[in-house]
Amino acid sequence: MNRLSTNRPSKFTVKGRPFSLTALLTLLFAAASLLLQLAARRIPGFGQWYAVTIYPMITGSLGRFMGIFPFSITELGLYLLIILFIVSLVRSWPRPLKILGRLLLGASLLLFLFTLNCGINYYRQPFSALSGLTVQPSSSQELYDLCSWLAAQIQDCVQELSSEENGFPGQTSREPLPSFPKLLEYGRQGQMAMEQIGEEFPALAGFYPSPKPLLLSRILSVQQLCGIYSPFTVEANYNREMPLYNIPHTICHELSHLRGFMREDEANFIGYIACIRSDDLYFRYSGYLMGWVYAGNALAQADPEGFASLRASLPQAALTDLSYNNAYWDSFQGTVAEVSTKVNDTYLKLQDQQDGVQSYGRAVDLMLAYYRQQAVTASFGGSPTE
Ligand SMILES: [Zn+2]
Repeated sequence: MNRLSTNRPSKFTVKGRPFSLTALLTLLFAAASLLLQLAARRIPGFGQWYAVTIYPMITGSLGRFMGIFPFSITELGLYLLIILFIVSLVRSWPRPLKILGRLLLGASLLLFLFTLNCGINYYRQPFSALSGLTVQPSSSQELYDLCSWLAAQIQDCVQELSSEENGFPGQTSREPLPSFPKLLEYGRQGQMAMEQIGEEFPALAGFYPSPKPLLLSRILSVQQLCGIYSPFTVEANYNREMPLYNIPHTICHELSHLRGFMREDEANFIGYIACIRSDDLYFRYSGYLMGWVYAGNALAQADPEGFASLRASLPQAALTDLSYNNAYWDSFQGTVAEVSTKVNDTYLKLQDQQDGVQSYGRAVDLMLAYYRQQAVTASFGGSPTE
């Protein structure tokens, strides 16, 4: 078959010269993306307006539709795209310009979807500004108090989990992976946890589509990623083979991106509060343990002795989980150069700490602000000062 002879007539002409539909669409997507990006950067209030009016409609329509499927459309689409690319390469290899044209069209479409479903949201007001929480520098004593409270909550959770599950030893290996029904249940609990925290923080209120476990989660593991928000399909994807206690927090973290909050440290905080306020015991355990990792890392720098004494007070199951978590992520060290800031122990860059009041990074500062607020309203389920 001589494919070179199947030249299709072009429908468009510019100054009498043929202009393909591919080129026209590429230009349209690229121009629309550029204009929207410029509007978000230059027009004050545009990003915030978009995030609370247009973006929720996208989450409520495209996100809701994608949520029907129990698997990740992004993941499936990625594999299909790779196959399509190879087929296109084989069929059109004598015409490199055609391949290039298709690639550019694909790239401009992805840029457009990224802009609509993610890029503009970077210019909205951050959660910290909308939460009503007072974020301020804190003393190392306050940080110690928070960690001490977290350790006590972890202790309580482990005790409850032990009685519910006939012993809760903590995780020591990847196998067995959580079953599909179990993952579906985690997804439902995550949606409920986010909807519930939306009652406390109106900025988080609204519909949340179901999160998706990736079939080939190893793709995320080698990048040291717990989860990934796909702006192309408005899907919250997560790693199903990582240490289990990461899953509830990651689900809520990724779902917070579907409310338009893009900052990683804020998503970590939102994931934390959604989990610790959840009705599900394992979600609460996940939230407290992740909170411990963030705040504990900061305390280890600010007050190493205080950190060591609190760490020794953690129940064995939690220590086992933490140690397996480190070993798991360590096994992927160096595989890929880019390391995600989402990974537990390495997430918060250690700061040049000094005595007295200081900032511990936005996630911990928000945790401290929430802890202070709850201590005032005393509705935190147990005394925050114990
Ligand atoms: Zn994220």
